[in-house]
Amino acid sequence: MSRFAHPAGDRHAEMLPQERPPLPPADLNRINPAIWPRTSTRTDGALTVGGVDVRELAREHGTPLYVIDEDDVRSRMRDYATAFAGSEVHYAGKAFLCKEIVRWLQAEGLGLDVASSGELAVALSVGFPAERITMHGNNKSVAELTKAIEAGVGHIVVDSFDEIARLGYLAEQHGKRPKVMIRVTTGVEAHTHEFIATAHDDQKFGLSLNTGAAAEAVRRILALPQLELVGLHSHIGSQIVDTAGFEVAARRLTSLLVQIKDEHGVVLPELDLGGGYGIAYVEGDEAPDIKELADGLREIVTKVCVDAGLPVPRLTVEPGRTIVGPGGITLYEVGTIKDVEGLRTYVSVNGGMSDNVRTALYGAEYTAVLASRASDAEPMLSRLVGKHCESGDIIVRDLHLPADLAPGDLIAVSATGAYCRSLASNYNYLPKPAVVAVSGGSSRVIVRGETEDDLLRGQL
Ligand SMILES: *Cc1c(COP(=O)(O)O)cnc(C)c1O
Repeated sequence: MSRFAHPAGDRHAEMLPQERPPLPPADLNRINPAIWPRTSTRTDGALTVGGVDVRELAREHGTPLYVIDEDDVRSRMRDYATAFAGSEVHYAGKAFLCKEIVRWLQAEGLGLDVASSGELAVALSVGFPAERITMHGNNKSVAELTKAIEAGVGHIVVDSFDEIARLGYLAEQHGKRPKVMIRVTTGVEAHTHEFIATAHDDQKFGLSLNTGAAAEAVRRILALPQLELVGLHSHIGSQIVDTAGFEVAARRLTSLLVQIKDEHGVVLPELDLGGGYGIAYVEGDEAPDIKELADGLREIVTKVCVDAGLPVPRLTVEPGRTIVGPGGITLYEVGTIKDVEGLRTYVSVNGGMSDNVRTALYGAEYTAVLASRASDAEPMLSRLVGKHCESGDIIVRDLHLPADLAPGDLIAVSATGAYCRSLASNYNYLPKPAVVAVSGGSSRVIVRGETEDDLLRGQL
């Protein structure tokens, strides 16, 4: 399978699709706590999340439906805030952003990363403090930079020489002095256990350490009194389960910090190591423990800086997937069931690549179960597919569902909280599903589902 680039840099699915189908799980009804939201259980046979039966959710809100376990997501926010006390945790909004998520972030004391003025607008619309926002992007427009400066965002991560010049001009015009970081391409690229320490510079993000572009960016920013250079930033990949790649990246960033001190006599006070920590999508996936991750990253930064004779900078991390991914599920209704003789059964549901493009885009893997009832029928090798006009419209490539599956049954797909709603489309003019938050036995809509009127709005 070829490597597909993806906005989130996700390569979870770069692993080859299995030629041989997986063995059926020992218990088709099992809700593995490592893969499903923290409050999930089966009650009377049906899946419940946040104390709400999925059959009730489907009746009340319809399907497809994104369901967010509020207690799960907020407890992960708190876990990060606690584990990284003394450091900064900025949630990467591109994983999934809406007003309610921003309110939770604010209540739990986290910061926020945005990558466009649209994402910035969501945050500001509910009064999120601008100084806790970092603006990212490899091609921020003049309008976006202007909005960021006017709002007074805490940091802008510069990604090119053009942007340094643009930002310098805009800051002067507005009489502001924004704090900036430089996005450094360290030559480290990590995914799951694998990392390569010589990743090529041939990519659109960042300024290369290797070619000297990062050091040149430092010179140019320091020459502009209207910009305050406070640190370096790096983001090395996604779905990473150990800290080895971060150690190499931190070491390389620190070498640049030393060079900056020697050349300019300036000690930069901040270091941002990005996000990219992994979650469990299928049985056997590893997910790093947040406390261990925090201890590991802090130890690395302390060690490399002490070795280099530098004061330890303030550390920032930017988790996205690990905060919202595990607490989200998608509920679908089974429509057509088609047995392809001797091969497998295609189970079609009422959504697909428009609400979850990750499988089609880069072969992501997911776990799904029959959610509206328990079943002791035999396992049936299935492929869970959507209703779109693409044969690649697959949600789960290989899974076992009970052989008595019938139209009208509800299927739940786990770990869809990150990079599903945020990457959703209206392909085939399907309205985007609602997002509901569940907690303490009740559900509430946090993003209204689109209607056909919404789809026609704006057409002339
Ligand atoms: C996407 C992104 C993140 C978050 O990545 P996750 O894999 O969701 O943790 C953090 N920082 C930057 C700069 C990113 O682009």
